[in-house]
Amino acid sequence: MKQSAVRRMTKQRIIVLDSVKSLGFHPTAYEIFERVRQELPRVSLSTVYRNLSILVEQGDILPVRGLGQEVHYDHNVHDHCHVLCSICNKVTDIHADFINPSHINPRDAEGYVIDDVLITLIGVCPECAKRTKKEHTDE
Ligand SMILES: [Zn+2]
Ligand SMILES: [Zn+2]
Repeated sequence: MKQSAVRRMTKQRIIVLDSVKSLGFHPTAYEIFERVRQELPRVSLSTVYRNLSILVEQGDILPVRGLGQEVHYDHNVHDHCHVLCSICNKVTDIHADFINPSHINPRDAEGYVIDDVLITLIGVCPECAKRTKKEHTDE
């Protein structure tokens, strides 16, 4: 058995995982750290990072790249894509067959071996659309 497979779920790691789940909005490591700190006031950011990378390695969470500079974390480990609000930066899961990554032909990849396909749609979320519409009618 591989060493990583027998790693124990520590109390700390369970709290980190629960924080990713309860925040729910694809938080960054720092946002997760702030949340974990409410339960473990003496936890350090590097401890949170270490636990996040172990959880990723174990397949409990997924790192999400391409949503700005930082890596975000996702408790939804099933195949899905994201839609990003260009106003409030909220990230929402979407399940749409037409953007299934398996429909992309790896032969088009200039000789690269492809590990992953990230598709993020960018738009305006319903809340922001409502707010901007209201601001316009107030003028
Ligand atoms: Zn928005
Ligand atoms: Zn997601």
